[in-house]
Amino acid sequence: MTQTTRAIRIHAPGGAEQLQLDTVEVGDPGPGQVRIRHHAIGLNFIDVYHRTGLYPLAMPHGIGMEGAGVIEAVGEGVTHLKVGDRAAYAANPPGSYCDARVMPAMNLCRLPDGIDFETGAAMMLKGLTAQYLLKRCKPVEGLEAGDFVLFHAAAGGVGLIACQWAKALGLRLIGTAGSDDKCALAREHGAEFTINYRTENFTQRVKEITGGQGVKVVYDSVGKDTWDGSLDCLRPFGLMVSFGNASGPVAPFSPGILGPKGSIYVTRQTLFTHISSRERTQAMADDLFSVVGSGQVRIRIDQRFALADAQAAHRSLEGRQTTGCTILLP
Ligand code: NDP
Repeated sequence: MTQTTRAIRIHAPGGAEQLQLDTVEVGDPGPGQVRIRHHAIGLNFIDVYHRTGLYPLAMPHGIGMEGAGVIEAVGEGVTHLKVGDRAAYAANPPGSYCDARVMPAMNLCRLPDGIDFETGAAMMLKGLTAQYLLKRCKPVEGLEAGDFVLFHAAAGGVGLIACQWAKALGLRLIGTAGSDDKCALAREHGAEFTINYRTENFTQRVKEITGGQGVKVVYDSVGKDTWDGSLDCLRPFGLMVSFGNASGPVAPFSPGILGPKGSIYVTRQTLFTHISSRERTQAMADDLFSVVGSGQVRIRIDQRFALADAQAAHRSLEGRQTTGCTILLP
Protein backbone atom coordinates (compact mmCIF):
# COMPACT_ATOMS: atom_id res chain seq x y z
CA MET A 1 0.00 0.00 0.00
CA THR A 2 1.48 3.34 -1.03
CA GLN A 3 1.45 6.22 1.47
CA THR A 4 3.14 9.58 1.54
CA THR A 5 5.94 10.81 3.79
CA ARG A 6 7.86 14.01 4.35
CA ALA A 7 11.43 13.77 3.09
CA ILE A 8 14.28 16.25 2.90
CA ARG A 9 15.78 15.90 -0.57
CA ILE A 10 18.39 17.62 -2.72
CA HIS A 11 17.57 18.51 -6.30
CA ALA A 12 20.96 20.04 -7.09
CA PRO A 13 24.27 20.12 -5.21
CA GLY A 14 25.08 23.27 -3.25
CA GLY A 15 24.64 25.03 0.08
CA ALA A 16 22.27 24.24 2.92
CA GLU A 17 19.45 26.02 1.04
CA GLN A 18 19.40 23.01 -1.32
CA LEU A 19 17.78 20.89 1.40
CA GLN A 20 14.10 20.86 0.44
CA LEU A 21 11.18 19.46 2.34
CA ASP A 22 9.26 17.32 -0.19
CA THR A 23 6.32 14.97 0.04
CA VAL A 24 7.16 11.62 -1.54
CA GLU A 25 5.51 8.24 -1.91
CA VAL A 26 6.63 5.30 0.17
CA GLY A 27 5.42 1.82 -0.76
CA ASP A 28 5.77 -1.70 0.58
CA PRO A 29 9.19 -3.29 1.02
CA GLY A 30 10.49 -5.62 -1.69
CA PRO A 31 12.67 -8.68 -1.13
CA GLY A 32 15.45 -7.97 1.40
CA GLN A 33 13.87 -4.64 2.39
CA VAL A 34 11.92 -3.21 5.31
CA ARG A 35 9.83 -0.11 5.89
CA ILE A 36 10.89 1.79 8.99
CA ARG A 37 9.11 4.70 10.67
CA HIS A 38 11.75 6.98 12.19
CA HIS A 39 11.61 8.27 15.74
CA ALA A 40 14.98 10.04 15.35
CA ILE A 41 17.47 10.64 12.56
CA GLY A 42 21.25 11.03 12.85
CA LEU A 43 23.11 13.91 11.21
CA ASN A 44 26.62 13.22 9.91
CA PHE A 45 29.31 15.16 8.15
CA ILE A 46 29.01 12.81 5.17
CA ASP A 47 25.55 14.37 4.62
CA VAL A 48 27.38 17.65 3.93
CA TYR A 49 29.62 15.92 1.35
CA HIS A 50 26.50 14.52 -0.35
CA ARG A 51 24.77 17.88 -0.32
CA THR A 52 27.73 19.81 -1.74
CA GLY A 53 28.39 17.20 -4.41
CA LEU A 54 31.84 16.21 -3.09
CA TYR A 55 30.37 12.69 -2.99
CA PRO A 56 28.04 12.85 -6.03
CA LEU A 57 24.48 11.49 -5.99
CA ALA A 58 21.93 11.18 -8.80
CA MET A 59 19.38 14.01 -8.35
CA PRO A 60 16.85 14.38 -6.89
CA HIS A 61 18.04 12.31 -3.97
CA GLY A 62 17.19 11.70 -0.34
CA ILE A 63 19.90 12.48 2.16
CA GLY A 64 21.07 11.05 5.49
CA MET A 65 22.51 7.67 6.40
CA GLU A 66 21.51 7.07 10.01
CA GLY A 67 18.27 6.62 11.88
CA ALA A 68 16.23 4.72 14.45
CA GLY A 69 12.58 3.77 14.63
CA VAL A 70 10.02 1.00 14.42
CA ILE A 71 9.79 -1.63 11.68
CA GLU A 72 6.41 -1.23 9.95
CA ALA A 73 6.64 -3.83 7.19
CA VAL A 74 9.09 -6.59 6.28
CA GLY A 75 9.91 -7.84 2.76
CA GLU A 76 10.51 -11.40 1.62
CA GLY A 77 13.70 -13.04 2.86
CA VAL A 78 14.26 -10.74 5.84
CA THR A 79 14.67 -12.96 8.89
CA HIS A 80 16.45 -10.84 11.49
CA LEU A 81 13.65 -8.25 11.89
CA LYS A 82 9.89 -8.38 12.36
CA VAL A 83 7.07 -5.85 12.38
CA GLY A 84 7.13 -3.84 15.62
CA ASP A 85 10.86 -4.25 16.29
CA ARG A 86 12.81 -1.22 17.46
CA ALA A 87 15.78 -0.87 15.13
CA ALA A 88 18.62 1.49 14.20
CA TYR A 89 21.03 1.73 11.31
CA ALA A 90 23.91 3.29 9.43
CA ALA A 91 23.21 2.44 5.81
CA ASN A 92 23.35 3.22 2.15
CA PRO A 93 21.67 4.56 0.09
CA PRO A 94 21.24 8.04 1.60
CA GLY A 95 17.62 8.90 2.48
CA SER A 96 17.14 8.88 6.26
CA TYR A 97 15.92 12.50 6.55
CA CYS A 98 12.25 11.47 6.39
CA ASP A 99 9.35 10.21 8.47
CA ALA A 100 9.35 6.73 6.92
CA ARG A 101 11.28 4.92 4.21
CA VAL A 102 11.73 1.60 2.47
CA MET A 103 15.36 0.47 2.65
CA PRO A 104 17.62 -2.58 2.52
CA ALA A 105 17.33 -4.54 5.78
CA MET A 106 20.94 -5.68 5.85
CA ASN A 107 22.40 -2.88 7.96
CA LEU A 108 19.47 -2.55 10.36
CA CYS A 109 20.04 -3.90 13.86
CA ARG A 110 17.52 -4.46 16.62
CA LEU A 111 18.02 -1.90 19.36
CA PRO A 112 18.66 -3.36 22.82
CA ASP A 113 15.91 -2.48 25.35
CA GLY A 114 18.13 -0.10 27.32
CA ILE A 115 18.97 2.11 24.33
CA ASP A 116 16.41 4.75 23.33
CA PHE A 117 15.63 5.90 19.78
CA GLU A 118 17.52 9.18 20.02
CA THR A 119 20.66 7.43 21.21
CA GLY A 120 20.23 4.75 18.56
CA ALA A 121 19.86 7.33 15.81
CA ALA A 122 22.86 9.33 17.02
CA MET A 123 25.28 6.49 17.55
CA MET A 124 25.11 3.98 14.73
CA LEU A 125 27.15 5.62 11.97
CA LYS A 126 29.47 7.42 14.36
CA GLY A 127 29.81 4.54 16.84
CA LEU A 128 30.43 1.89 14.19
CA THR A 129 33.05 4.21 12.73
CA ALA A 130 34.79 4.54 16.09
CA GLN A 131 34.54 0.75 16.41
CA TYR A 132 36.29 -0.03 13.14
CA LEU A 133 38.87 2.74 13.57
CA LEU A 134 39.97 1.51 17.00
CA LYS A 135 39.42 -2.23 16.57
CA ARG A 136 39.85 -3.00 12.88
CA CYS A 137 42.59 -0.59 11.70
CA LYS A 138 45.73 -1.86 13.35
CA PRO A 139 49.26 -0.56 12.77
CA VAL A 140 51.69 -3.26 11.68
CA GLU A 141 53.37 -3.26 15.10
CA GLY A 142 50.02 -3.68 16.88
CA LEU A 143 48.07 -1.29 19.12
CA GLU A 144 48.11 -1.87 22.85
CA ALA A 145 47.12 -0.19 26.09
CA GLY A 146 49.61 2.57 26.81
CA ASP A 147 50.18 3.46 23.14
CA PHE A 148 49.76 7.06 22.01
CA VAL A 149 47.28 7.86 19.21
CA LEU A 150 46.22 11.19 17.71
CA PHE A 151 42.54 11.83 16.95
CA HIS A 152 41.54 15.00 15.07
CA ALA A 153 38.17 16.74 15.62
CA ALA A 154 38.02 14.98 18.99
CA ALA A 155 34.99 16.95 20.28
CA GLY A 156 32.77 16.01 17.30
CA GLY A 157 30.28 13.19 16.89
CA VAL A 158 32.75 10.44 16.05
CA GLY A 159 35.39 12.18 18.15
CA LEU A 160 33.73 12.09 21.57
CA ILE A 161 32.78 8.43 21.10
CA ALA A 162 36.36 7.61 20.07
CA CYS A 163 37.82 9.48 23.08
CA GLN A 164 35.78 7.39 25.49
CA TRP A 165 36.30 4.10 23.71
CA ALA A 166 40.06 4.66 23.35
CA LYS A 167 40.27 5.34 27.08
CA ALA A 168 38.37 2.13 27.82
CA LEU A 169 40.98 0.32 25.70
CA GLY A 170 43.80 1.95 27.67
CA LEU A 171 45.05 4.03 24.75
CA ARG A 172 46.62 7.41 25.43
CA LEU A 173 44.56 9.59 23.09
CA ILE A 174 45.75 13.05 22.09
CA GLY A 175 42.75 14.92 20.70
CA THR A 176 42.70 18.05 18.57
CA ALA A 177 39.78 20.49 18.42
CA GLY A 178 39.00 23.98 17.18
CA SER A 179 38.48 25.81 20.49
CA ASP A 180 39.57 25.63 24.12
CA ASP A 181 36.01 24.71 25.17
CA LYS A 182 35.96 21.83 22.69
CA CYS A 183 39.35 20.70 24.00
CA ALA A 184 37.99 20.68 27.56
CA LEU A 185 35.01 18.61 26.40
CA ALA A 186 37.31 16.06 24.74
CA ARG A 187 39.34 15.75 27.96
CA GLU A 188 36.11 15.25 29.95
CA HIS A 189 35.38 12.35 27.62
CA GLY A 190 38.71 10.59 27.99
CA ALA A 191 41.29 12.37 25.85
CA GLU A 192 44.47 12.42 27.95
CA PHE A 193 45.88 15.47 26.14
CA THR A 194 44.26 18.00 23.83
CA ILE A 195 45.56 20.54 21.35
CA ASN A 196 43.66 23.53 20.00
CA TYR A 197 44.83 23.20 16.40
CA ARG A 198 43.60 26.69 15.54
CA THR A 199 46.06 28.30 17.95
CA GLU A 200 48.81 25.70 18.42
CA ASN A 201 51.11 23.77 16.06
CA PHE A 202 49.73 20.29 16.66
CA THR A 203 52.73 18.46 15.17
CA GLN A 204 55.12 20.20 17.52
CA ARG A 205 52.84 19.57 20.51
CA VAL A 206 52.49 15.87 19.67
CA LYS A 207 56.29 15.57 19.58
CA GLU A 208 56.51 17.24 23.01
CA ILE A 209 53.76 15.11 24.55
CA THR A 210 55.29 11.86 23.26
CA GLY A 211 58.87 12.77 24.22
CA GLY A 212 59.85 13.05 20.55
CA GLN A 213 58.62 9.54 19.69
CA GLY A 214 55.40 10.32 17.81
CA VAL A 215 52.15 8.36 17.88
CA LYS A 216 51.39 4.87 16.55
CA VAL A 217 48.19 5.91 14.74
CA VAL A 218 46.74 9.19 13.49
CA TYR A 219 42.98 9.18 12.82
CA ASP A 220 42.43 12.07 10.40
CA SER A 221 38.98 13.13 9.24
CA VAL A 222 39.86 16.79 8.73
CA GLY A 223 41.79 16.13 5.52
CA LYS A 224 43.37 19.02 3.62
CA ASP A 225 44.29 21.22 6.60
CA THR A 226 45.83 18.49 8.79
CA TRP A 227 47.26 15.99 6.30
CA ASP A 228 50.90 17.14 6.13
CA GLY A 229 51.19 17.83 9.83
CA SER A 230 49.60 14.49 10.66
CA LEU A 231 52.16 12.48 8.68
CA ASP A 232 54.89 14.13 10.75
CA CYS A 233 53.23 13.04 14.02
CA LEU A 234 53.80 9.33 13.35
CA ARG A 235 56.55 7.19 14.82
CA PRO A 236 58.36 4.72 12.49
CA PHE A 237 55.98 2.10 11.02
CA GLY A 238 53.06 4.18 12.28
CA LEU A 239 49.67 4.21 10.56
CA MET A 240 47.89 7.20 9.07
CA VAL A 241 44.15 6.47 8.89
CA SER A 242 42.49 9.02 6.64
CA PHE A 243 38.71 8.80 6.93
CA GLY A 244 37.27 12.19 6.06
CA ASN A 245 37.69 15.64 4.55
CA ALA A 246 35.88 18.18 6.72
CA SER A 247 38.34 20.90 5.58
CA GLY A 248 38.51 19.66 1.98
CA PRO A 249 39.99 16.66 0.18
CA VAL A 250 43.65 15.72 0.58
CA ALA A 251 45.85 16.69 -2.38
CA PRO A 252 47.49 13.88 -4.38
CA PHE A 253 50.91 12.86 -3.01
CA SER A 254 53.81 10.63 -3.98
CA PRO A 255 54.33 7.41 -1.97
CA GLY A 256 58.02 8.32 -2.03
CA ILE A 257 57.44 10.72 0.89
CA LEU A 258 56.46 7.88 3.25
CA GLY A 259 59.89 6.20 3.45
CA PRO A 260 61.91 9.09 4.89
CA LYS A 261 59.12 9.77 7.42
CA GLY A 262 59.84 6.34 8.98
CA SER A 263 58.38 3.75 6.55
CA ILE A 264 54.94 4.85 7.62
CA TYR A 265 51.67 3.35 6.36
CA VAL A 266 48.72 5.26 4.92
CA THR A 267 45.17 3.98 4.47
CA ARG A 268 41.88 5.59 3.42
CA GLN A 269 38.93 3.92 5.11
CA THR A 270 35.17 3.98 4.74
CA LEU A 271 32.62 2.49 7.12
CA PHE A 272 30.63 1.06 4.25
CA THR A 273 33.30 -1.54 3.45
CA HIS A 274 33.26 -2.68 7.07
CA ILE A 275 29.48 -3.00 7.19
CA SER A 276 29.16 -4.68 3.78
CA SER A 277 28.05 -7.97 5.36
CA ARG A 278 25.14 -8.54 7.74
CA GLU A 279 27.29 -10.68 10.05
CA ARG A 280 30.05 -8.09 10.36
CA THR A 281 27.53 -5.26 10.83
CA GLN A 282 25.85 -7.15 13.66
CA ALA A 283 29.16 -8.09 15.31
CA MET A 284 30.36 -4.48 15.21
CA ALA A 285 26.96 -3.23 16.45
CA ASP A 286 27.00 -5.75 19.31
CA ASP A 287 30.39 -4.40 20.34
CA LEU A 288 28.99 -0.85 20.24
CA PHE A 289 25.81 -1.83 22.15
CA SER A 290 28.01 -3.45 24.78
CA VAL A 291 30.18 -0.36 25.50
CA VAL A 292 27.12 1.91 25.44
CA GLY A 293 25.12 -0.50 27.61
CA SER A 294 27.92 -0.74 30.17
CA GLY A 295 28.28 3.05 30.31
CA GLN A 296 31.90 2.99 29.08
CA VAL A 297 30.78 5.09 26.12
CA ARG A 298 28.07 7.73 26.60
CA ILE A 299 26.37 9.06 23.48
CA ARG A 300 26.21 12.78 23.88
CA ILE A 301 23.49 14.52 21.86
CA ASP A 302 24.25 18.24 21.99
CA GLN A 303 21.95 19.44 19.16
CA ARG A 304 18.38 18.53 18.30
CA PHE A 305 16.55 20.01 15.28
CA ALA A 306 13.11 19.37 13.80
CA LEU A 307 13.30 17.43 10.53
CA ALA A 308 11.96 20.49 8.73
CA ASP A 309 14.90 22.52 10.09
CA ALA A 310 17.56 20.39 8.38
CA GLN A 311 19.04 23.50 6.73
CA ALA A 312 19.82 25.04 10.11
CA ALA A 313 21.28 21.74 11.29
CA HIS A 314 23.64 21.63 8.30
CA ARG A 315 24.74 25.23 8.77
CA SER A 316 25.56 24.49 12.37
CA LEU A 317 27.56 21.31 11.60
CA GLU A 318 29.46 22.87 8.72
CA GLY A 319 30.07 26.04 10.70
CA ARG A 320 31.95 24.04 13.38
CA GLN A 321 29.31 25.11 15.93
CA THR A 322 28.37 21.60 17.07
CA THR A 323 29.87 19.23 19.59
CA GLY A 324 29.05 15.54 20.03
CA CYS A 325 26.08 14.19 18.07
CA THR A 326 23.26 16.03 16.29
CA ILE A 327 19.85 14.54 15.57
CA LEU A 328 16.76 15.50 13.59
CA LEU A 329 13.33 14.76 15.02
CA PRO A 330 10.44 13.85 12.68
P1 NDP B 1 31.89 16.19 13.48
O1 NDP B 1 30.86 16.33 14.51
O2 NDP B 1 33.25 15.71 13.92
O3 NDP B 1 32.05 17.57 12.71
C1 NDP B 1 33.16 17.82 11.92
C2 NDP B 1 34.23 18.57 12.70
O4 NDP B 1 35.39 18.70 11.89
C3 NDP B 1 33.85 19.99 13.07
O5 NDP B 1 33.06 20.09 14.21
C4 NDP B 1 35.22 20.63 13.28
O6 NDP B 1 35.65 20.44 14.61
C5 NDP B 1 36.14 19.80 12.36
N1 NDP B 1 36.63 20.60 11.26
C6 NDP B 1 37.93 20.86 11.02
N2 NDP B 1 38.06 21.66 9.97
C7 NDP B 1 36.82 21.93 9.52
C8 NDP B 1 36.33 22.74 8.46
N3 NDP B 1 37.14 23.44 7.64
N4 NDP B 1 34.99 22.80 8.28
C9 NDP B 1 34.16 22.13 9.07
N5 NDP B 1 34.58 21.34 10.10
C10 NDP B 1 35.91 21.25 10.32
O7 NDP B 1 31.36 15.26 12.30
P2 NDP B 1 31.08 13.69 12.30
O8 NDP B 1 31.26 13.14 13.67
O9 NDP B 1 29.82 13.45 11.57
O10 NDP B 1 32.25 13.14 11.37
C11 NDP B 1 33.61 13.38 11.72
C12 NDP B 1 34.45 13.14 10.50
O11 NDP B 1 34.57 11.76 10.23
C13 NDP B 1 33.93 13.78 9.20
O12 NDP B 1 35.02 14.27 8.45
C14 NDP B 1 33.29 12.62 8.50
O13 NDP B 1 33.23 12.76 7.14
C15 NDP B 1 34.22 11.49 8.90
N6 NDP B 1 33.57 10.18 8.87
C16 NDP B 1 34.11 9.23 8.06
C17 NDP B 1 33.62 7.96 8.05
C18 NDP B 1 34.31 6.92 7.25
O14 NDP B 1 34.04 5.73 7.44
N7 NDP B 1 35.19 7.26 6.34
C19 NDP B 1 32.42 7.59 8.81
C20 NDP B 1 31.96 8.65 9.70
C21 NDP B 1 32.51 9.90 9.69
P3 NDP B 1 36.69 21.51 15.25
O15 NDP B 1 36.01 22.84 15.25
O16 NDP B 1 36.97 20.97 16.58
O17 NDP B 1 37.88 21.51 14.34
